[in-house]
Amino acid sequence: MTGPDVAGLVARARAGEPLAVGRLLSLVEAGGPRGREVAAALVNDGGRAHVVGLTGPPGVGKSTTTSALVTAMRARGDRIGVLAVDPSSPFSGGALLGDRVRMADHTEDQGVFIRSMATRGRLGGLAGATPQALRVLEAAGCDVVLIETVGVGQSEIDVVALADTTVVLLAPGMGDGVQAAKAGILEVADLFVVNKADRDGARQTVRELRHMIGLGERAGWKVPVLQTVASRGDGVDELVAALDAHRQWSDGSGERERRRAARAEAEIEAVAVARLRARMRGAHGRDGLSDLAKRVAAGELDPYAAADELEPELVDPQPPH
Ligand code: GDP
Repeated sequence: MTGPDVAGLVARARAGEPLAVGRLLSLVEAGGPRGREVAAALVNDGGRAHVVGLTGPPGVGKSTTTSALVTAMRARGDRIGVLAVDPSSPFSGGALLGDRVRMADHTEDQGVFIRSMATRGRLGGLAGATPQALRVLEAAGCDVVLIETVGVGQSEIDVVALADTTVVLLAPGMGDGVQAAKAGILEVADLFVVNKADRDGARQTVRELRHMIGLGERAGWKVPVLQTVASRGDGVDELVAALDAHRQWSDGSGERERRRAARAEAEIEAVAVARLRARMRGAHGRDGLSDLAKRVAAGELDPYAAADELEPELVDPQPPH
């Protein structure tokens, strides 16, 4: 047999062996038959960890906060996974991203698994590989998985869709609060953190956020606005307590179950779409598609007719009445 022995790797990962965890993460990222084998082996491993997504503008302190959270949660004995998701880069791996040096404090710790994941150009993108990576970390016994976005843009919102609890970080000044509202991130935040509270204007940002939250409706969960100085660890215990509280609320209210079902739906869709795309490319080749594209561009063929040639048995979806 060629390739790694998946069952053996899974057993070793369940025993918390970092090398095996790393290999499994690589397999799920690569997808293909091995990735599928891993998915089948881990079918029952999901749902254990508290998945926390951290998002916010670059430089706000996500990496520093993630590191501080790892320290605080390790102190109480939690096993932690960290996924640094970079949607703008095609490079993944066990190595930390260059500028994620703050995590270096934890690389020697056997109770912490850290991984950077790049999703650009991957079939299924973020929704495809990340849930599988979560299962690997859950199989390895992680109590908490922190997902930190490195890039910016829509992918940040996609990351949010994977989390049980979403933390939106902002910093004083720069009209961050207003920008956040524009980006639609207000609705997805379960918790706001105003980091860099050692800077002027922190209180103002907190006030602004509280005002904006007050305008919205939230079923049963009052979105807290915390202040931290992540670089000093100030306010991190309060953040941990708020994360615990949200987990408890979402367990009790059924919210966690609802989000996990939505995540699974996105996952199935990602697999199916990736398959369809691969089949189209497989049946016609890259050239087949570009030939059709040339004909559409030249005005010889309309795009619907071109799609018919690619996938004759797929019919156009009917618009809703
Ligand atoms: P990220 O891009 O959101 O991950 O932000 P980083 O965690 O890399 O932090 C960006 C910069 O802000 C770094 O130089 C940190 O040392 C600094 N920083 C992080 N937290 C704080 C804080 O609470 N106060 C101050 N003054 N600086 C901070």
